[in-house]
Amino acid sequence: MGKVIGIDLGTTNSCVAVLEGGQPVVISNSEGGRTTPSMVGFGKAGDRLVGQLAKRQAVTNAENTIFSIKRFIGRRWDDTQTERSRVPYDCVKGKDDTVDVQIRGRNYTPQEVSAMILQKLKQDAENYLGETVTQAVITVPAYFSDAQRQATKDAGTIAGLEVLRIINEPTAAALAYGLDKQDQEQCVLVFDLGGGTFDVSVLKIQDGIFEVLSTNGDTFLGGDDFDQAIMNYWIEANKLDVINTELRQALRLKAEEAKKALSTQNIFNDSVNDVPCAITRIKFEELIRPKIEQTIKLCQNALNDAGLTINDIQEIVMVGGSTRTPLVKRIVSEFFGKEVHDKINPDEVVALGAAIQSDVLAGNRKDILLLDVTPLSLGIETMGGLMDVIIPRNAKVPSKAGRQYTTSIDGQANMKISVYQGERDLVKENRKLAEFDLRGIPGMPAGFPKVDINFRLNADGILTVEAVELRSGVKQEVEVKPTYGLTDREVEKMLIESIQNAKEDVSKRMLI
Ligand code: AMP
Repeated sequence: MGKVIGIDLGTTNSCVAVLEGGQPVVISNSEGGRTTPSMVGFGKAGDRLVGQLAKRQAVTNAENTIFSIKRFIGRRWDDTQTERSRVPYDCVKGKDDTVDVQIRGRNYTPQEVSAMILQKLKQDAENYLGETVTQAVITVPAYFSDAQRQATKDAGTIAGLEVLRIINEPTAAALAYGLDKQDQEQCVLVFDLGGGTFDVSVLKIQDGIFEVLSTNGDTFLGGDDFDQAIMNYWIEANKLDVINTELRQALRLKAEEAKKALSTQNIFNDSVNDVPCAITRIKFEELIRPKIEQTIKLCQNALNDAGLTINDIQEIVMVGGSTRTPLVKRIVSEFFGKEVHDKINPDEVVALGAAIQSDVLAGNRKDILLLDVTPLSLGIETMGGLMDVIIPRNAKVPSKAGRQYTTSIDGQANMKISVYQGERDLVKENRKLAEFDLRGIPGMPAGFPKVDINFRLNADGILTVEAVELRSGVKQEVEVKPTYGLTDREVEKMLIESIQNAKEDVSKRMLI
């Protein structure tokens, strides 16, 4: 069996790792970086650039450079208004109300764009390992819905990867710290502050089972806000009234440079196009304090939702590049009254955890048993629009459960089965995952047929529903694919296209 890679497919940056000699190691990309910008740029000649090369041309080719595609994957058009308003590229309504990106007259699904990033990571891993890689574990945020998970899995398939498992990012981070190894039950808080998003998750770990007790966060809070604060400070300090796009961009880049420098030094002093750019760490901390305090409020909300207090949290794991800012660590450890876990590189910790999980799935390690739980209850609609839960929330995955139903009308030949996910009593307040008919029930008086409905949830949290009428043997089975995902055939078509593209890309590269 070949090597299985672990991939952190991030909003801003992605990272790939593999297990070597029992230890997870990060694989550098062909540009020498340990993380790869999650960006895809399209040139005039139809050429495609991924990662650092895409980032390099992003300023001059903004409307043809896709970033933050993770904000759109598996989501509906109507739910992404804010996200759409914040990107310079064109978003168009895709099939089933999804969000596609239109570049130079061609539409791309978020799955295809994510696949381009995954393909680059796969290629870099293959170059490093000197062998073909066909299997991966990919991480997603704990709050990702069924549709977002399925779409991420599809992206893997399009990239030519068999996705052995989709695991939660906070679970991966906790694995990298070996927090699953303790004997007793423990509660862990994972604090993930990236470039544009903040996620906090509270996990309970016991006997190798990772239960996500609560998640919270802000999809528009991160290191970008710190850059913006520095930039605004310079604009004011230099009394700059009119700023063209080019200067704004240059100032933004300088601000990020200053922010990173201030993680290890006390003063930053430079200039951009004759504009002095100086700032002290004290000033910087004064500017960003309110933003960091916001993260603490969200941690408190997550604790409340989990029914815990700060004293119940045994470990705090820092994830995401922005946790390198010393004030972030200081404020978090002050709030919890204990030191935070920050020994592993915060950009890499999730990918390293994914690599550990890959190794487990490859059958090389028997000491770790990682089980996630389903975050929301799964059930069907019964009389009066009520939700009848078949698999309750927090059930371990994989999981199986069933229930018996009957008909309500004499001679009823068909039974509509509507599958929902959520915690509310009325199905209309939950999310509909699928609907199908069990047809051909032979004529019987109401209440006579015996219809068994069985739910099977696989390890990725993907559900299959089977309905069988026991007296007649009439049976129907569906894999619950979110209505706004891609069909298998579409995924397959995209895979073929991407292989063709990859060949073209290779020949273009060779030509160059
Ligand atoms: P991520 O989304 O986890 O890749 O985090 C990216 C964010 O981390 C960006 O806002 C970076 O500017 C920020 N970042 C990276 N390195 C540092 C550093 N040394 N100090 C402060 N922030 C950093």
